[in-house]
Amino acid sequence: MGSQPILSVVVPCFNEEKSLPLLVRTLEPILNSEFNQLDWEIILVNDGSHDGTEACIEAFHQLCPNIWGVSLTRNFGHQPALYTGLTHSKGEFIACMDADLQDPPEVLLDLVRTVRSGQYDVAYGVRASRDAGPLIKACYRSFYRLMGAISEHPWQMDAGDFCAMNRRALDMLLSLPERDKFLRGLRSWVGLRQIGVSYARPQRRLGRSKYNYSRLYRLAMKGVVGFSTVPLRIASFLSLGMGLVCVLGAAFLILNRLFPAFTLFGYSIGASQGIATLAVLILLMASAVLASLGIIGEYLAVVLVEVKQRPVSLISRIIHQ
Ligand code: UDP
Ligand code: MG
Repeated sequence: MGSQPILSVVVPCFNEEKSLPLLVRTLEPILNSEFNQLDWEIILVNDGSHDGTEACIEAFHQLCPNIWGVSLTRNFGHQPALYTGLTHSKGEFIACMDADLQDPPEVLLDLVRTVRSGQYDVAYGVRASRDAGPLIKACYRSFYRLMGAISEHPWQMDAGDFCAMNRRALDMLLSLPERDKFLRGLRSWVGLRQIGVSYARPQRRLGRSKYNYSRLYRLAMKGVVGFSTVPLRIASFLSLGMGLVCVLGAAFLILNRLFPAFTLFGYSIGASQGIATLAVLILLMASAVLASLGIIGEYLAVVLVEVKQRPVSLISRIIHQ
């Protein structure tokens, strides 16, 4: 499509051959009811799928040129795939959604209408309820509450990547230089006029979730490390606090060793060899040092990614006439 569409919908897809036909069948009539035929585009980003996702995208493009795709050279992950789709969008307004219909197309239309009204630059979905297991629900809830407490800018509660925004907001989002993208965090960091729209998040209709607990943990870490330095400060407080305990403990032990009459609560290293004391001190010290090292390591990993300056993803092919 040569001319600028009004709306670009970006959908990251990893092994979504089962979900894609249903998504397109549901979304296409909704978009056609709101826009003229040439006024929308759907960009399906094939994130290195091993199944028939790419063939599916080709088939949709043959049937409807408004639907086209970008294939990445391998699986780069949800955030890089979404970001790559955003960089290819041409619309005056841009929407992001998942391929599995957990982001309902009718709600997408609400979000788009909200930004098209001109009152807001960004409208994002807020998951008022979530059809998922209790453990995963508790993890999501705690993550958003934790981010609310430690983020350096106001964090949008229970909001994922499901949103619509105008070109101005997208250009600002795309101008942010970091490689390690946590898009929902960057979106709220941008500011402008943003509004949350509540919706009930249903279960994935077809196929399987690509997120397991370890991938979710990595995503959560991206959020924490990208938007808060509180853990680093905790690490330094922890180290300082333990250092102080250590110095006081050592002073007591030396005094007690030199002057056996000097005891604390009747405790004397001369009477007992102080094995328990030493063991406890060593364990406390080691745990504080290791926890601090772990936290510093998380931040260092992000610094490494940024220093390497690799592109967010590589494109193998654009599925477009
Ligand atoms: N996805 C992706 N690359 C990945 C993992 C996921 O493009 O490495 C896409 C996936 O196809 C879906 C969206 O990101 O469209 C959200 O993934 P999923 O539904 O598996 O996550 P969940 O909803 O279970 O958190
Ligand atoms: Mg999903």
